[in-house]
Amino acid sequence: MDNIIGNDITYLHGVGPKKAALLNRLGVYTVGDLLRLYPRSYIDLTNKSTFAKTADDGAKHAYSVIILTDPSKSIIRKNLTLFKFRVTDGQDDALATIYNDRYTAMKLHRGESCILYGRVQYKKGFIMQSPQIIDAGDASQIRPVYPQTAGLSSKAVERLVRSALTECRPFLTDIIPLRIRMEYGLCSYQSAIEEIHFPKAMQSVAKASNRLIFEELMIWQIAMGALKTRIKTETGAVCRQDFTPEIISRFSFELTNAQKRAVKQISDDMSSGKCMNRLLQGDVGSGKTAVAVAAAYNAAKNGFQTALMAPTELLAVQHYNTVAGLLEKTDISLELLTGGTTEANRRRIYAGLADGSTDIVVGTHALISKGVEFNNLGLVITDEQHRFGVAQRGALAARGHSAHLLAMSATPIPRTLALTVYGDLDLSVLDELPEGRQKVETYRIDSSKRIRAFNYIKKHLDEGGQGYIVCALVEENDSQLLAATEYFERLREKYFAGYSLGLLHGRMRPAQKEQVMSDFAAGKIQLLISTTVIEVGMDVPDAVIMMIENAERFGLSQLHQLRGRVGRGTRKSTCILVSDSRSELTTKRLNAVCRTNDGFEIAAEDLKLRGPGDFFGVHQHGFLPFSIADIERDIKTVELSHEAAELLLSEDPALIRSEHRGMRDAVERAMKRFESA
Ligand code: ADP
Ligand code: MG
Repeated sequence: MDNIIGNDITYLHGVGPKKAALLNRLGVYTVGDLLRLYPRSYIDLTNKSTFAKTADDGAKHAYSVIILTDPSKSIIRKNLTLFKFRVTDGQDDALATIYNDRYTAMKLHRGESCILYGRVQYKKGFIMQSPQIIDAGDASQIRPVYPQTAGLSSKAVERLVRSALTECRPFLTDIIPLRIRMEYGLCSYQSAIEEIHFPKAMQSVAKASNRLIFEELMIWQIAMGALKTRIKTETGAVCRQDFTPEIISRFSFELTNAQKRAVKQISDDMSSGKCMNRLLQGDVGSGKTAVAVAAAYNAAKNGFQTALMAPTELLAVQHYNTVAGLLEKTDISLELLTGGTTEANRRRIYAGLADGSTDIVVGTHALISKGVEFNNLGLVITDEQHRFGVAQRGALAARGHSAHLLAMSATPIPRTLALTVYGDLDLSVLDELPEGRQKVETYRIDSSKRIRAFNYIKKHLDEGGQGYIVCALVEENDSQLLAATEYFERLREKYFAGYSLGLLHGRMRPAQKEQVMSDFAAGKIQLLISTTVIEVGMDVPDAVIMMIENAERFGLSQLHQLRGRVGRGTRKSTCILVSDSRSELTTKRLNAVCRTNDGFEIAAEDLKLRGPGDFFGVHQHGFLPFSIADIERDIKTVELSHEAAELLLSEDPALIRSEHRGMRDAVERAMKRFESA
């Protein structure tokens, strides 16, 4: 029998070109991909709730109910039909509503029982809006909920997964050797896959996912290890002469001692012949950019090109401006390459990079993607969010570039995480702020004081200052952006009529964003309403006040970084955290941010209060190719799998034994992904 796991998804019965295209949208191309499309949650029918016990708790539950009335239909407007019916859970009645779904409504009849799954609210009675309706006769007790896409429901995905599982069962072999599985208490691969899709009890989900996370991380760590070895044996761009004193003397300020130390460490690395692999860690405002510019200047003068990557276009633009300022009146040629770059410019810049006439290019991480050819790339600098620069470094190495890597971050990373993720990474710390910086006074208020806070902000604007109001969006999706836009309109028309306001969010076109940002930097916009796109890097000296809505939704380090956008000049600055949360934990966390301006202390506090799982708050790191692992949430497993990987490699460094063949293949696939990244 042939192993069908690698087969195209159309191999499965019932998957034609149309369904395949839908599955592709979920990242599923092969039968194996489908098995790795894990449920995002489960409907637990083994544990039925009552309305009274769970109303307003914000979570979804299953309720076993009897229908009391046939659904009644009312047409609200064109294309919006509402069906209402009453149900009882045996103790209380509730009103359930369904929108538009005539087909489902028709199937519901008085006196029948069914299971409703969703949230219950209490508003003069229990209400369930758009619950999922599950046939009471449905046998399976815990149901997976899959990622869906228009035209492909969770239910449809479930059916396909079931059939894929049946066909693949004989091929679900373990790539983690038995003795390692025993040592770390990992279940077999086959049972992990079965239980993650169709668990018999909720407890087995944790066991199954732990096993799959472990495996994914182990593969990744072995692949990273191989890349690191490759990097280590490479010679880096050798910068024979140290040109950093030359550029430093041109800066308009004196470097702090910490900056001087970092510059020295970097230029030593760059002259050593080995590839630099260094993390530059420093709190917001500690002046990482100046250090980076010194390194890039040094590379340029030694004949090497530098790519400086920012996490967003917005920040790339700002970095470009900063770098341009610091390199003023030098003969270094600098370019900005973003999604907003015109086609003609793009072609010109590509040519300059290919023939070596461009020394430094600033942009997003697309900069080092395949297709961008460098003449002599010698230094890659990544800023924020690209904490996992090693992966990118690996991608470059795999394509034959032996560039030095300097990763910059304002987020203090716990030592163990840094070690397992970056391996043999060296560390430079900017533990000193430039002189004259003032503490940003930080207060927490609840929304009843919001109007007073608005007046306080106005006072600052009247005195010539600028300000930010930051909205927390869980995701930048349509409905949330709509809320932010409405909020902005309300501020503009009501509370801040007569002032000039700007709106900035992640869905705007790069050119729009750039316009808003440069208007703000130029003082044309007094108050900027923004989502978290301003999180890092925005540098506007007149910005003296910031208000953060729903502050409890942010990670502490993220709040601290946001706050770092004010207090960049010499004026006293203020940050107001708005939160109505009554939770004791939230109060403790927000108090920590109010109490201190030390990013390292805040990070430590965050770790203590929330545990490492939430360390970095809400964010995404698109580069890492994981389907289930999360480096930050799974920090413990990162360490354990690292240990296991070392154990395996110590016995069989090249993984040539037959029982390691599966692991070797998996590692090779992972390396290919780096190379094509
Ligand atoms: P971050 O480390 O947060 O990236 P930046 O590099 O953006 O900080 O620097 C913050 C601000 O401080 C910039 O306006 C920069 O020009 C300025 N700066 C950097 N180093 C010094 C210094 N040694 N003395 C005074 N100002 C400095
Ligand atoms: Mg910065």
